[in-house]
Amino acid sequence: MADTVIPLADLRYAAAMPRIPVVLTPASGLLSDTRGRPLRDLRISVTDRCNFRCSYCMPKSVFDSQYRFLPQTSLLSFEEITRTARLFAAHGVSKLRLTGGEPLLRKHLERLIEQLATVRTPEGESLDITLTTNASLLERKAAALKAAGLQRVTVSLDALDDATFRQMNDVDFPVADVLRGIDAALRAGLAPVKVNMVVKRGVNDQQIVPLARHVRDYWGTGVVLRFIEYMDVGASNGWRMDEVLPSAQVIERLAQAFPLVPLQASAPGETAKRWRYADGAGEVGVISSVTQAFCHDCNRARLSTEGKLFLCLFASRGHDLRALLRAGHSDDEISNAIGLIWQGRDDRYSELRGAGQLPVNERRVEMHYIGG
Ligand code: SAM
Repeated sequence: MADTVIPLADLRYAAAMPRIPVVLTPASGLLSDTRGRPLRDLRISVTDRCNFRCSYCMPKSVFDSQYRFLPQTSLLSFEEITRTARLFAAHGVSKLRLTGGEPLLRKHLERLIEQLATVRTPEGESLDITLTTNASLLERKAAALKAAGLQRVTVSLDALDDATFRQMNDVDFPVADVLRGIDAALRAGLAPVKVNMVVKRGVNDQQIVPLARHVRDYWGTGVVLRFIEYMDVGASNGWRMDEVLPSAQVIERLAQAFPLVPLQASAPGETAKRWRYADGAGEVGVISSVTQAFCHDCNRARLSTEGKLFLCLFASRGHDLRALLRAGHSDDEISNAIGLIWQGRDDRYSELRGAGQLPVNERRVEMHYIGG
């Protein structure tokens, strides 16, 4: 059999060198991109490694034993991440999400959280710090994460049925361990826990109602369930539109089982459309990034594991902030470079996809690298 060809490796190094303006100005907290979108949310990928091999994200055929993950020296250190987060907070970021890869695989992650918990907005508020995890290590780590300053967690859980779950993670990981991880998060006070289920038509869509029922009956309002449309992120998952189950159909199926009442968005830029159960058993939501693009109010930036700034989940190129951090530039210089990058942002991939206007031959960056 032929060796696996990994067309992703070079892409990791595709990045523009940020420009530092000649005249430096202090951050105002009021940055706005070319479409008037503010910068509020920074997602930080702390590792490109994951112990799961979900076919829609890190399929085994590509991410096998030959695959070369980033070396330790490429990763941003905790000090570099915290310095960067502080500069983003001055530009208006109020929410940090640690992700990956599997963030709980990064050694001593609690120490990073402790450092991030010291960052303040210009108004002196601490940031909202959260984490997205597959929960395989959550039972062991929930209490320490909370003690370090983590406020909430989002757990990815693609099925309640053990066989389907093992098929989705493709490493034979049992669902019971994830459920215990969620229990531990709730006990530690990381509430409400969000649970995200990526729906692939014909693979796990029969799990929509059983998972919703379990969340309602077992956890009630302590857990908020979100169904995510399977997206065409990266270049390795072989995405096909016919495997996407539109969120409208997810809601139809749920509403047949449990009467639902629509809820208003609770914050600008919120990705989920939300419903509450009419009987008061909690809420449920859908994230329809394929069938209903929400680029118009996207206020998120992503910092890759090795310090490249991406302005869209579907971007092809990043901006090399690590180069600035390691070249001895001052906070003011790097802050101004970040400001210029955001002011030039024009990305609206999902809207263009919806309108059939995507550029051809643009290889998108992988999700485990820039963070989901
Ligand atoms: N390992 C962590 C986890 O499992 O939550 C964090 C990283 S993972 C890339 C973040 C989220 O991205 C997960 O909820 C995962 O299900 C979602 N995701 C990855 N690939 C996706 C795709 N093609 N479409 C939709 N969601 C995807």
